[in-house]
Amino acid sequence: MDKEMRCTPGTCPKCGSEELDYGCLNVQDAMVYYSFSCPVCRLEAREWYDLSYASTTITDEGVV
Ligand SMILES: [Zn+2]
Repeated sequence: MDKEMRCTPGTCPKCGSEELDYGCLNVQDAMVYYSFSCPVCRLEAREWYDLSYASTTITDEGVV
């Protein structure tokens, strides 16, 4: 299992660089994450975010 830690988003947990290269947003279970790599120390990691309910929008009323 991957090592999990709490650190500052946008900052490399290894060297502290803020020049991270982010990949696209991914969804896994009820969480989303960005893959990122640090061009300074070559660390590769994921930044996880909780998904929380915001609202419901109806895009098609359907039939009754
Ligand atoms: Zn780094």
